[in-house]
Amino acid sequence: MNTHISIVGLGFVGLTTAVCFASKGIKVTGIDIDENKLKMVAAGQPPFYEVGLAQRLRRVLKNKKLALSANVKAAASSDITIIAVGTPSNKDGSANLSYLASACESVGAAIKDKKRFHIVVIKSTVPPGTTLGVALPALEKISGKRVPQDFGICSNPEFLREGSAVADTLSPDKVVIGTIDDRTKKAMVALYNRFYRPKNVPMVETNPQTAELIKYANNSFLATKISFINTIANVCQRIPGTDVETVAYAIGLDRRIGPLFLRAGLGYGGSCFPKDVAAMISFSKANGYSPELLANTHLVNQMQPYKAIELLKMFLHELAGKTVAILGLAFKPYTTDMREAVSIKIIEELNRTGVLVRAFDPMAIEEAKSVFGDKIIYCKTTEECLEGSDACIIATEWPQFRNITPKLLNKHMKTSILIDGRRVTEPRKFNGKITYYSAIGYGSQ
Ligand code: NAD
Repeated sequence: MNTHISIVGLGFVGLTTAVCFASKGIKVTGIDIDENKLKMVAAGQPPFYEVGLAQRLRRVLKNKKLALSANVKAAASSDITIIAVGTPSNKDGSANLSYLASACESVGAAIKDKKRFHIVVIKSTVPPGTTLGVALPALEKISGKRVPQDFGICSNPEFLREGSAVADTLSPDKVVIGTIDDRTKKAMVALYNRFYRPKNVPMVETNPQTAELIKYANNSFLATKISFINTIANVCQRIPGTDVETVAYAIGLDRRIGPLFLRAGLGYGGSCFPKDVAAMISFSKANGYSPELLANTHLVNQMQPYKAIELLKMFLHELAGKTVAILGLAFKPYTTDMREAVSIKIIEELNRTGVLVRAFDPMAIEEAKSVFGDKIIYCKTTEECLEGSDACIIATEWPQFRNITPKLLNKHMKTSILIDGRRVTEPRKFNGKITYYSAIGYGSQ
C-alpha cells in the first residue's frame, strides 16, 4: 500500500521525519501553523541546521514527495497523521500539553467527515497516559468518531539526537509502537518496515502508556549517566593527579557500563534532557512517588555550569572588570539550538559579576543574539574572540576547538588562562606553556 502520511509540527523532529520519510518515496504532507517557517521550508531552507537535511529537503521538494500546508485540514487526505508539536516545560517542571491538545483538536476537525480509517500518531514526548487521556478524548470529541472502529491511535516516541537527526532517523536503535488495537499496530509496523527496508530495526510493540514512559526512562537514564560522570569529575578536581578521562575510559571498558555518555563537562542542555527529567520528576510525584535519583541528576546538572566559574576564580580571584572569551554557545556541536545551553548560565553569571564577555560559535551566533542581545560581544573567529581576553572558557565541544594551541592563546590573550569545560584539549599540551590551564575533572597535576 502506498501510505500517505501527514506530519503536524515541522520543528526538529517533524521536519526531519517528514524529509526522511519523503526521501524513501513515501508521500508526505508537512503541516505547521508558523507561516514563516513554512515559507523557509518551501524555499528549501530548514529553519535550523542539521547535517544533510537541507540537501534532502530540496530533493524531496523537487520530486514532489513533500507537500506543505499551513492548514491542519490537509491531514484528512493522508492515511496516518504524525503529531510532533512541542511539549515544553511549565514553570513547575510538568509538560505543557497545550500545543498537543490544540493540534489534536485540529486533527479531530480535519478527519470529522472522512470516510476511511485514519491513524493518529503521537510522536511528541508526553507523560504516560497522555495519548489515551488527552489526545484520544480531544480527537473523539471533535471528530465525533470512535477508537478503534473509526480511527486508530498510537504513541510512537522519537529518540533522534539534534546534530545527527537525519542519520538517527534513517538508522535508529529502535522503534517504539504503543497501540491499543491490532489494525493500528499492523499499519504502523508495516509503515516502519517499508521505511527501513531492507534494514531490520528492532521494534518494541507495547501499549501507549509504556511507549510514553520508555521515552522518559531513556532520556532520564542518559541524563543520569552524564550527571554521574560529572560527579566523578568534581571529585577528581579535588584529588591531585587524577583525571576523569582516565576514570571514564576505564569504567567504560566494563561492558555493563559501556563507553558512551561518559564525557565529563559542564552539564547537559538542549530542548530535551532538562525538560524530560523535570517532567519525569513531576508526573512521578503526581503519581505519589518522589524519584530522588532523578531530582539529584537534575540538581547536579543545575550546578555544573558554575564549575567553569569556580575554576576561573581559582586563578583570577576577582572577576569584575575582566574580559572572558567564551568559545561555543550552542547547547552542543553541529546545531544552532541555544535552548538550555550551558553558555547561557555561564554568561549570565559572568555579566552579573561585571565581566565583559566576548563570544564565538561556529554556527549559533544569530540564535545567540536573540538570547543575549547587546550584553556580549559577538566574534567571527576563535582568534578574534581570544583577542585581549583575560581568560577563556570552552563551553561547547566543537571539534575545531581541539586545534587551539598554547601559541595561539599566548599570541592573542592578555593572560593565557584556559578553562576547558568540555575536555576537548589535551592537558599535557598546555600545562606549563600558558599562564594557567584547568579542565573539568582534571585534578591539579
Ligand atoms: P519544535 O518546537 O522545534 O517544533 C514544534 C513545531 O510545532 C513548531 O514548528 C510549531 O510551530 C509547530 N506547532 C505547534 N502547534 C502546532 C499546531 N497546532 N499545528 C501545527 N503545528 C504546530 O519542537 P521539536 O524540538 O521538534 O520537538 C517536538 C517534540 O518531539 C517535543 O515533544 C520534543 O520533546 C520531542 N523530541 C524532540 C527531540 C529534539 O531533539 N528536538 C528529540 C526527541 C523528541
